[in-house]
Amino acid sequence: MKLGNQARVRLGTLPTPLHEAVRLREALGGSRRCPRILLKRDDLTGLAFGGNKVRKLEFLVADAISKGATCLVTAGAAQSNHARCTAAAAAMVGMRAALVLTTAVEPVASQGNVLLDRMLGAEVRFVPEGVDVDAELARSAAMLQEQGERPYVIPVGGSNAIGALGYVAATAELVDQLANSEERPSALYYASGSRGTQAGLVLGAKVFRAPYQVRGIAVSGGEPEKTTRATRIANEAATILGSSADVDPSELVTDQGYIGQGYGIPTDRGLEAMKLLARHEAVFLDPVYSSKAMAGLIDHIRQGALDPAETIVFLHTGGTPALFAHADAIEAALAQ
Ligand SMILES: *Cc1c(COP(=O)(O)O)cnc(C)c1O
Repeated sequence: MKLGNQARVRLGTLPTPLHEAVRLREALGGSRRCPRILLKRDDLTGLAFGGNKVRKLEFLVADAISKGATCLVTAGAAQSNHARCTAAAAAMVGMRAALVLTTAVEPVASQGNVLLDRMLGAEVRFVPEGVDVDAELARSAAMLQEQGERPYVIPVGGSNAIGALGYVAATAELVDQLANSEERPSALYYASGSRGTQAGLVLGAKVFRAPYQVRGIAVSGGEPEKTTRATRIANEAATILGSSADVDPSELVTDQGYIGQGYGIPTDRGLEAMKLLARHEAVFLDPVYSSKAMAGLIDHIRQGALDPAETIVFLHTGGTPALFAHADAIEAALAQ
């Protein structure tokens, strides 16, 4: 295992805190109904409002530097946290950032992540939803090459084997924190999108013998292709690390029950989870990812699917700026 000497650029403020959500447990029925919940605060990774993409970018940007890149190119939805973090990483290491952002409606409001992308100096190109994003990424890279730049293309969500190393490293950090506080959680819940986080978490759990099962709550569809791809990413990451760990698709657990109407559309249960976490823990979940994951965890607790004697880790993956792009839906939920 050579994670220690894997090329990495320090972008985040690590380790992130791990703390118990005591008042949330009370709100969910107390110790007779609800397991202990430990919050792993990757919303606090530090760089430009934080989130899980910062960990992936520490490895991706190191790879870009080693290849002599001058510009980071990536894609996502208009309110992509990954795009914002890529723009921030580029600013940190003195590269240009070119973002291809998909949107159903133009003009796009300069709010949340879009506003931050502009402040960070990223070059943003909006394309209609449903276009071939990989082809658009290749187009952006070709345009930059014509200008004499050396573009480094990062896939949507930073989800490839190099990006997944961020969550292998995060697992080492978490397993260490758990050992130091003598915690043995049975499960780790988190929001699952493009699945690079899943690949890293599942590989990391194997490599570092984590006590918990990794349980993703999906925020978008795409099965079974996504599980196939995440398995490949996890095994490619193992190869990079010189690890003999072998990840099987059956080890990738993703609950599809909390997506609602689709990616980026807040759900009633998610909005309820946002309100609960804000009012009992002063923690802000985001409307697109972490609120749906927490809605899944809360529902599993209410169904009695989790033993109250257990301890659960909830990985808060960030997404804070999207709060402000969904202010109307949040306000409506607060009024209820
Ligand atoms: C991208 C993202 C995720 C999902 O991570 P993937 O690696 O794409 O599955 C979860 N939460 C937030 C806030 C994100 O921005």
